[in-house]
Amino acid sequence: MRAIVVGSGAGGSLAARELRKAGMDVVVLEAGSEFRPMSRRVTMTEPFRRAGIMGTERTIHRLFPAMWTARSSDELVLVRGITAGGTTTIACGNLVRATGGLDEIGLDLTKEFEELEAELHPVTFPRERWRPTTEAMFQAAERLGYNPAPTPKAMKAVRCVACGLCEIGCGSGAKWDARQWLDQAKLEGAEVRLETPVERVIVERGLASGVLVHTKRGNETIKSDLVVLAAGGIGTAQILRASSLPVQDKLWADIVLTLGGSKQDAEMLSEPPMVWYTKHDRFILSPYLDILSHWFHKPWRNVGLKDRVGVMVKLGEEANGVVEADGTVRKELTSADHDKLAAATELAKRVMLDAGVEGPFVPGMLNGGHLGGTVPLRREDVDSMHPGDLPENLYVADLSLLPQSQGLPTMLTASALAMRVVKTITKDRMT
Ligand SMILES: Cc1cc2nc3c(=O)[nH]c(=O)nc-3n(C[C@H](O)[C@H](O)[C@H](O)COP(=O)(O)OP(=O)(O)OC[C@H]3O[C@@H](n4cnc5c(N)ncnc54)[C@H](O)[C@@H]3O)c2cc1C
Repeated sequence: MRAIVVGSGAGGSLAARELRKAGMDVVVLEAGSEFRPMSRRVTMTEPFRRAGIMGTERTIHRLFPAMWTARSSDELVLVRGITAGGTTTIACGNLVRATGGLDEIGLDLTKEFEELEAELHPVTFPRERWRPTTEAMFQAAERLGYNPAPTPKAMKAVRCVACGLCEIGCGSGAKWDARQWLDQAKLEGAEVRLETPVERVIVERGLASGVLVHTKRGNETIKSDLVVLAAGGIGTAQILRASSLPVQDKLWADIVLTLGGSKQDAEMLSEPPMVWYTKHDRFILSPYLDILSHWFHKPWRNVGLKDRVGVMVKLGEEANGVVEADGTVRKELTSADHDKLAAATELAKRVMLDAGVEGPFVPGMLNGGHLGGTVPLRREDVDSMHPGDLPENLYVADLSLLPQSQGLPTMLTASALAMRVVKTITKDRMT
């Protein structure tokens, strides 16, 4: 049996490895190219930033092709990784169980979480290597009763050179990303084709018979018995839309707003991002120097890299985004989202003030990079892990399946969903 897996991120790479291990012929079709961390030194960009000639957030794609950004509204920038390994290559390495909305549909992923954690060995970054301001903010959060905890991460802390910029690719090999699974799939015999974006699924007599790809050499049809879409919340929705198959206008992104303050020589880039976090109702706070805001957000221009301090609010928002067949995304924050964001930002400000961080406190660029919800699982889909209105041999194995935003890191959940999808496929189709 031949399976096509579309995308090689948190969901796709794992699905490819597991399907191959189960004995299927597997072809992975990935739109992006081989991943390379950004090679330019961040300090070299400071003069351009101060002079205000860095342009908009779209510049990042020219400096660092793996990072894709797009504005879904005047105020919101969406971010994803289009490359081998997907968005995990530009993730901060945080590894937590995000389970919001799963009880409601009767899906328990505990076993998959346990299996993945046993493989990835999450660790916390040694506290003696935290920057003093980060430590002070942790203690402030404790005093304020927010119960901060060190963040579990998929990384080898001893290898980490503390460049502070996991999001532009780990140059030291300390941080895990899904290319590890992709390599394992290849070793097991899977075929991996990079720079091969899938345009649509071909449906014949009600079944998926393969996909149409568009490469530099032109269009090509690739046939298979099974298609697994794992192109992420936007990519999977785009392909389904282009195939005239059902998609929900319910994209969510987990909104990030980093409140910026300053402290002389805080040097937040001399530690990994987000070494601790506080968990609240559908949002977290975490120390973070948001590099997109630092480079491209005008209101942040007056504070230099050494002195900039940030606390991130990551908020689960309303699932209301629309993905079109050409990949255009429309998504706005609702007034309820804005109210929740304002309340959460107030807590971030309290932490910073209590830790002696100085104002003015300036909100950073609104962005979101946890893209899910476009093919939400329903209770009746859970046994088969197959969204009922898709052709019976067309599956989804990425964050698109997760019905609601989390306000928490999401890659472990994307992988756990993919693992459950593959278990179900192999049980139902290969026994
Ligand atoms: C800056 C940033 C930091 C993050 N940090 C963390 C973190 O620390 N911890 C955490 O848990 N989560 C983090 N996330 C979120 C996490 O990385 C994602 O939720 C997770 O990777 C989603 O997995 P996925 O498989 O759904 O999609 P992805 O990992 O995005 O994979 C989708 C893949 O599909 C490919 N693709 C897209 N369209 C097509 C097409 N038409 N044809 C073929 N291939 C296609 C893409 O190139 C990509 O490889 C972060 C996100 C961002 C943006």
